[in-house]
Amino acid sequence: MDKPQNHPFGELLAAYSAGSLPLSQALCISAHLEHCDSCARQLQHLNRVGTELMQQLTPSKASDELKNRLLERLDSLEAETPRHESARVDSSIPRCLRQFVDSSYGGLRWKRISADIHSVELCRDSNGAKVELLKIKPGGSATTHTHLGDEYTVILEGSFSDESGLYRKGDFVVKDKNDKHTPVATRDSECICLAVTEGPIQFTGPISRLLNPLIRRSYA
Ligand SMILES: [Zn+2]
Repeated sequence: MDKPQNHPFGELLAAYSAGSLPLSQALCISAHLEHCDSCARQLQHLNRVGTELMQQLTPSKASDELKNRLLERLDSLEAETPRHESARVDSSIPRCLRQFVDSSYGGLRWKRISADIHSVELCRDSNGAKVELLKIKPGGSATTHTHLGDEYTVILEGSFSDESGLYRKGDFVVKDKNDKHTPVATRDSECICLAVTEGPIQFTGPISRLLNPLIRRSYA
């Protein structure tokens, strides 16, 4: 398998290691890590450094109230049922996404966005970010757009290109509001991506005045 060529930048990986990323972004990093040995090794290193730093801190004495609250929290965590994951799930689907997929990408309830694109929303983050899968047909194109917030994409199947280059399976791509781009799937296969958008995308083509209010409403 080809190695991913586009990786999360260091600060993102460090924030993932520290557990301080929003869940939607952490999901993208997890999906990338399942394809990328290089980032997985870097993460192990960051985790080790984090553990050493924690060990150097001088512990202060915890109050009885804090201890009781922690014990209650641990009890409630143990009582929570394990997350759903079907035994029949396709092994090509990243482990971090199997809670959303019963068997295969084909079995999901895809919604038609355009002649070339279908999407299925997986969840919303508490910060409002939308987590979805996008499917672009072979050779299909997304309308040229910019973003009102950051957009994180991990390619799960196939590949696409835009003005900045070609992205293949496992690649991690971040676009912000200064990036205007037109993703086009390569002709050999359909492209499936995990996409996290922190705000609505803004179409810039001639039909933008019709589409943009509809897209903004989906974030309301
Ligand atoms: Zn990587």
